[in-house]
Amino acid sequence: MSDIIRLLPDHVANQIAAGEVIQRPASAVKELLENAIDAGATQIKLYLKDAGRTLVQVVDNGIGMSPTDARLAFERHATSKIRSADDLFTLHTKGFRGEALASIASVAQVELLTCQQGQEVGTMLRIEGNKITEQQPVVTQKGTSIAMKHLFFNVPARRNFLKSDTVEMRHILDEFHRVALAHPDLQFSLFHNDVEQFALPATTLRKRIVQLFGQRLEEQLVPVEEQTELLSIRGFISKNAYRKNKVLQFFMVNQRFIKNRYLHHAVVSAFEGLLKEGEQPEYFLYLEIDPKHIDINIHPTKTEIKFDNDQAIYALLRSAIKHSLGQFHVLPSIDFSLDEQNEVPYSYKDKEAQTPVYHVDRNFNPFKMETPIPEAPKSQVSFSHRESPAPAWEQLYTGIPSKANAPSEQEPTSAPFELFPQESKMQTNLYFQKKYLITFLRDKVLFVHVARAHQRVLYERFRKSILQGHSLSQSLLFPLEFEYSPSEVLEITPLLPELRNAGFMIEIEGNTVRFTGLPPMIKESQVQAFLYELLERASEDIPQEVFSQEEMLAKILAKSLAIKAGQPLSGEEQEQLVYDLFSCEEPQLSPFGKKIYTELTVNELESRL
Ligand code: ADP
Ligand code: MG
Repeated sequence: MSDIIRLLPDHVANQIAAGEVIQRPASAVKELLENAIDAGATQIKLYLKDAGRTLVQVVDNGIGMSPTDARLAFERHATSKIRSADDLFTLHTKGFRGEALASIASVAQVELLTCQQGQEVGTMLRIEGNKITEQQPVVTQKGTSIAMKHLFFNVPARRNFLKSDTVEMRHILDEFHRVALAHPDLQFSLFHNDVEQFALPATTLRKRIVQLFGQRLEEQLVPVEEQTELLSIRGFISKNAYRKNKVLQFFMVNQRFIKNRYLHHAVVSAFEGLLKEGEQPEYFLYLEIDPKHIDINIHPTKTEIKFDNDQAIYALLRSAIKHSLGQFHVLPSIDFSLDEQNEVPYSYKDKEAQTPVYHVDRNFNPFKMETPIPEAPKSQVSFSHRESPAPAWEQLYTGIPSKANAPSEQEPTSAPFELFPQESKMQTNLYFQKKYLITFLRDKVLFVHVARAHQRVLYERFRKSILQGHSLSQSLLFPLEFEYSPSEVLEITPLLPELRNAGFMIEIEGNTVRFTGLPPMIKESQVQAFLYELLERASEDIPQEVFSQEEMLAKILAKSLAIKAGQPLSGEEQEQLVYDLFSCEEPQLSPFGKKIYTELTVNELESRL
């Protein structure tokens, strides 16, 4: 048999190794920003084109490189940061492997401009696929600029694995946030396709958090501070917890962003009794510890580190946070076993409790025949905003099977159950626990989950109007304006066409989102909750092929506008809801796949008694 083992050519080996370090534009952003910080820069500019596919460029005012170092920097394992393995235990720089520039140069076209402080002449270098194609002395500003162009130009397979611009940009912003948070004392800016998205002057940590994530945090942040021999802890926790999928949670160890589930648990446990089911605390915590107590010698792109004394750190962290929570009077409010949906309606919150008054009818004779209850007057139901008149109760149960009487253009596909006879129209629904609607049919009782039923109704309406693109809008007398952080604005912008289709008259100017008109189904007071939901959803990394934007938007609208449990409903509204639900294409499931109703038949009932 002939021999079959071959040594891979250098360029192939390099590309494979590069794959570990540079997976997407965001990885290059991280490496280049970190190099600028290691070079002692105080001003760092990041320029991007097409979410980093076409260009990622970092310009710094750091120490610069000599002409020889400039060439060497692109060799694998070329670093100025450590000389021996022992140096790892006294490490104060972000980089130390000497792999990033070599990796970037093997999968992209690179242009370097650098000039050392105190030198007149600097160096220009062009590299393509690891080969230096041009080197010249040039006059350039002090510091370094590294431009990475056309990422994966020579590895089409990897290029095809990149996600949409929105997703790649989100990854880039995550890295940018982490570095900018780790170094509030440095100035950063970010330009995407020539538009300045972030301009962050050097500032305090508190202000940096607000610069990045918006005003909402300004009043929420509670400082944490603890100094011991082993480590120092400083930073902020947020007074309010969130149910968001993407809460702000940052640990920095020696100014390096890390993820550590054990420490996360320490924080969460300090919040014990303050968090409801599914809620998460937000935190920005900075740990300083002697590098000899940590091991960061792990995979290049991973953000985990090991501590040699993690139990002590856990205890310190937990007590530091508990201390701040106590000091700033963040205490459990009323009752945390309560479901948020059962909370006291807002309008009742500040009212005093009143002693109930009993009226006794002294003439009441239980043996006298009751007079028939008069039929309730019919009125337009406010929450559904139908253009056609609200169908009456009896129409619901006679109309569904015949289709002829139903005033809605959306006909039910089939009658889901045997219907109630006309003469029994006095039968009414029960609104149980302000959460379920119990509706009576001839031989069964249906228990309808109100919030989910309404979500289904709204979802189908919005989906239709967004797809058809000619929804109604009601102009607002006074436009509604909301301030958002730059990254939130970036999340909203791609959804503008669908939002307009849904009936929102919306403009974005800088960080201001302005509404001049709304779809008729949404009230002004609901807009903010809707946007909040929208941002939360948009930040999930849902592959775009799975959900269309239209569908996502219809779901979010349905979720944020649907009736919440605990909300009062008039008899008319209850009827309307049942009618609307069974006019839907799919009345069984909520847009989020939850069951909407269940039933109890007479036979089942009898078998139980
Ligand atoms: P590492 O950061 O692990 O040392 P890199 O490949 O990222 O490896 O960089 C190699 C070397 O190039 C660094 O050690 C540093 O000496 C030099 N270098 C890289 N970027 C810069 C920069 N922006 N300014 C000055 N020197 C730099
Ligand atoms: Mg580096």
